[in-house]
Amino acid sequence: MRTVYLNGEYMPEDEAKVSVFDRGFLMADGVYEVTSVLDGKLIDFDGHAVRLQRSLDELEMRHPSSKEDLLEVHRELVRLNEITDGMIYLQITRGNPGDRDFAYPPQDTAPTVVLFTQAKPGMADSPLTKTGMKVISIPDQRWGRRDIKTVQLLYPSMGKMMAKAAGADDAWMVEDDHITEGTSNNAYIVKGNTIVTRQLGHDILHGITRAAVLRFAREAQMSVEERPFTVAEAQAADEAFITSASMFVMPVVEMDGAAIGSGAPGPVAARLREIYLDESRKTAI
Ligand code: PLP
Repeated sequence: MRTVYLNGEYMPEDEAKVSVFDRGFLMADGVYEVTSVLDGKLIDFDGHAVRLQRSLDELEMRHPSSKEDLLEVHRELVRLNEITDGMIYLQITRGNPGDRDFAYPPQDTAPTVVLFTQAKPGMADSPLTKTGMKVISIPDQRWGRRDIKTVQLLYPSMGKMMAKAAGADDAWMVEDDHITEGTSNNAYIVKGNTIVTRQLGHDILHGITRAAVLRFAREAQMSVEERPFTVAEAQAADEAFITSASMFVMPVVEMDGAAIGSGAPGPVAARLREIYLDESRKTAI
């Protein structure tokens, strides 16, 4: 049985209980982060800590603890659960104010803080890397502040189910004829020598992996354009791929049934994946 962290204590998962009045449960009033673990070390913890602070600030939620304390909890859970490869989920909600009310409760209401691990042995060697992913396009019907990493994940869940029903691995979401991002990842195409991905704004999550991969791409003298692109452009691209903390860089080989490029994983995605994994392992803590 896993050990989880709840409001300052480590305990077996079946003893961790949250109130039915918790605003995370009643109103999806909460934020989260997912940090990967490779070889027992945290990948880009700093990036996730900075985005967490931003999500909390945007929702006027107070930060329950310092970055150093959070790091310690992450490390302790890795140790207690003997995680070599996997993910750590951190969930923070606005807590239980007593009565259900739309208004935010007073600032001194204790937030609910939960961390848990998910082991994923060999996650850097996923077989999908060899075959590539198939994606479908679906309308982006999420709310307008996708840059805040909230626990409102119902539409992404629906998107994953639509993809599954269509025999695909994931869905890329479309708004005003342009792709925003994947249901749980950022989306990229490659045309010629240029990597194209949507620019940051309120309409996509500011991926921590995205920031690192674009930095490595520029350092390797690859050209990067941050702008919206269409489904037709994706289908006519030489390559496509996604990035996320748990998938790293993963090739995409088909969009709405049309092969992208050769229909096999391409060299740019493969190179970026290698650089990302090498560099991230070097700086893991
Ligand atoms: N976009 C969405 C909608 C996501 O849910 C995620 C990750 O969960 C990402 C992008 C990728 O972000 P990161 O690289 O920080 O994992």
